[in-house]
Amino acid sequence: MIPLSPQLVPATFHGRGDVPSILDRPHKLFLTAGRMAFALGLRLAGVKAGDEVLIPAYASGSMVTPILLQGATPVFYRLRRDLSADLDDLAGRLTPRSAALLGVNFFGFAQDWAALRAFADQFGLLLVEDCAHALYGSWRGQPLGSFGDFAIASLTKFLPVWDGGLLALNALSAPRVATRAPSLRSELKAVYNLLEEAKDHGRNPVLRPLLAALERSRQQTRRSNSPAAAGESLRRDVTGAVDPARILDAPAAISRFVARRAARPRIAERRRQAYALYQEGLAGVPGCAMPFQPTADEVPFMAPVWVDDLDRWHPRWLERRLPMQRFAEFLWPDLPADTCPVARDLSRHLVQFPCHQDLEPAEIRSIIETIRTDLSSARRAAS
Ligand SMILES: *Cc1c(COP(=O)(O)O)cnc(C)c1O
Repeated sequence: MIPLSPQLVPATFHGRGDVPSILDRPHKLFLTAGRMAFALGLRLAGVKAGDEVLIPAYASGSMVTPILLQGATPVFYRLRRDLSADLDDLAGRLTPRSAALLGVNFFGFAQDWAALRAFADQFGLLLVEDCAHALYGSWRGQPLGSFGDFAIASLTKFLPVWDGGLLALNALSAPRVATRAPSLRSELKAVYNLLEEAKDHGRNPVLRPLLAALERSRQQTRRSNSPAAAGESLRRDVTGAVDPARILDAPAAISRFVARRAARPRIAERRRQAYALYQEGLAGVPGCAMPFQPTADEVPFMAPVWVDDLDRWHPRWLERRLPMQRFAEFLWPDLPADTCPVARDLSRHLVQFPCHQDLEPAEIRSIIETIRTDLSSARRAAS
């Protein structure tokens, strides 16, 4: 099976060189997820009950729940076709309660941070930068994650880790915030999960003996221990739930290690190459398009593909276990239908295929081949 997410392999650490990243921000906290970082950032910034937080209408639950947790209200704003914030629409949504503005570097593509900064300053808003899809990359010579008054990132979306979020404090005053370290059992489990997942995908054959040993020790732990370890299921949690009791939990040590030591040039290069493979392979295929193009400074999170008849293909591709994701497939339930036509269309038509560093070109080609064959045969049948 083709892995949807990066895998921990020796090559994760191979190579040296620099790629700008929010990971280099001087004042930061490692937490268990991006949503925890957003929740803590809002709390430290003093966003409170009654305040309004402006966020794009194209939003997943994990961007909304941290706002609700503060007792604040999300106010959804429009995006333009190129995913940039629509400043005219934003201006029309300001009220005396507007407290913060969230800009999102969707799929790794930068917002116009000069425009967002000018807008936030003009109206006295806290500017928050969402780098959940943009762990690496820069805009106009400055790293993504350096533009917001605070910024957040998600380690699980870019790196082979099972938990991890980052809060870059930037302009937030940095009080002494103590995070809670995971138990030893959670630490071991975090390592074990990574190795086992890589093995299940046919990676890391040399580690089999180590895995067998870990499996034995895990079974012993299981017998002696009952409650679920902290941080164990976040990687696959897409519901957006935030457990307030866990906001200050630190991620597993292995997650921080991977974040610090992963070789960025290889990851950035392989992601860009994978993205280009999709662009080449899907060019001219009927009924689909790749509307966005990364610049040389951006590192793509996934490859977003517009499919005209996604309602028809998505269930079939799921059945055939094509690795894919749909960001904001379900928009926030309270969102008025006419808020943002772009969000409505993207949630119905955009699907993301993996372009991470641990895919082989042959795997990407096989994904492309499935899409190409299906969409081409549908076109032939229709004509
Ligand atoms: C996933 C996501 C988050 C939250 O990150 P988690 O690590 O999953 O909590 C925030 N913003 C955006 C745009 C996301 O896609």
